[in-house]
Amino acid sequence: MEFKEFDSNKLMYVTNRPDLVFTEGDGMWLTDHNGKRYLDYLQGWAVNALGHAPQCIADALTEQGKKLINPSPAFFNAPSIELANLLTENSAFDRVFFANSGAEANEGAIKLARKWGKKNPATNGDARFEIITFKHSFHGRTIATMSASGKDGWDTMFAPQVPGFPKATLNDLASVEALITKHTVAVMLEPVQGEGGVIPATKEFMQGLRRLTKQANILLIVDEVQSGMGRTGELFGYQLSGIEPDIMTLGKGIGGGVPLAALLAREEIACFEAGEQGGTYNGNPLMTAVGVAVIKELLKPGFMDTVRERGAYLRQRSLEISEKYGFEGERGEGLLRALQLGRDIGPQIVEAARNMEPVGLLLNSPRPNLLRFMPSLNVTKEEIDQMFAMLEEVLAKVEK
Ligand SMILES: *Cc1c(COP(=O)(O)O)cnc(C)c1O
Repeated sequence: MEFKEFDSNKLMYVTNRPDLVFTEGDGMWLTDHNGKRYLDYLQGWAVNALGHAPQCIADALTEQGKKLINPSPAFFNAPSIELANLLTENSAFDRVFFANSGAEANEGAIKLARKWGKKNPATNGDARFEIITFKHSFHGRTIATMSASGKDGWDTMFAPQVPGFPKATLNDLASVEALITKHTVAVMLEPVQGEGGVIPATKEFMQGLRRLTKQANILLIVDEVQSGMGRTGELFGYQLSGIEPDIMTLGKGIGGGVPLAALLAREEIACFEAGEQGGTYNGNPLMTAVGVAVIKELLKPGFMDTVRERGAYLRQRSLEISEKYGFEGERGEGLLRALQLGRDIGPQIVEAARNMEPVGLLLNSPRPNLLRFMPSLNVTKEEIDQMFAMLEEVLAKVEK
């Protein structure tokens, strides 16, 4: 079938897409409308924790779909209770609110922090509401989460912004301290900045932030929409630095590809009152049943060991190719990594890799001098080797 037979112009234009329609997925592989296969290092943007169309998700969807899809958020349902229990048993948090996207979970975190700030006012009685966030951070595409994000240009794009998100510099504790005022209620960050170019917060910085926020009696919020659910080699990214935050948000990997996200808080922070938070689809059993299937896979003995092992191998191979082509090394945690190209050839590589024949390679370049790798957490060693073999073929062309 020809691409032009699809009348794709009825979809609202929001981004440039190649003339491809993906029709099937299987593990690390995608197939397009012409039957061409692609090794997929995007995985729905670090979303498909278990790869494309894993059996356990297909089973969860069909079994739950036959039983109960949505009794409404006004009633309890069994999968959401089970998933909340699994998440709290395996993290530093006590209470879970389910959402449908990372941005929505972060909106919930902002609301919860502001609510807590009302209940815990400044010494002069003023409600506290400011949340310190970071330059180059990414927290979502709603107006409030865009305002919280530190992406260049986002401050003016849909102005006016939601006020109350002063920006500090990642890994610079003094820059955070300088922004704390009597209005400050929280600090919010990604343990590894994902969209910003895979920049990990250092262990010292995370520990320093925890100390600083405790001293100032303000909350520490971790946005683990990208870094959570095993992506960094720990179940949650904050565990890499041995701290316990007050609030965490999850998205992407938690649904293994379906729309599911979560807001988690410690007991004493979870202060919403009736009617203050909700949503029509929130915690519906169809999506939370998938979440249960995903986390049970991650909790299987040895699963996280393999993620760490594959992450170390991806790092080793990245360093080797960096040495060979005169790039500038690599960075990241677990299976969220970036190759630092040192020159602005990322977009060219992405395009040439996708156009390779007979099989293509899907890569992401969040900045022109970077390639970001976000394979499924169950990627094999062979699929890593194959990616680097294909990347070398592409580089031979691009560097010519
Ligand atoms: C992707 C992402 C979001 C937004 O999630 P959506 O599901 O696209 O709304 C928020 N924070 C981080 C760190 C992300 O990577």
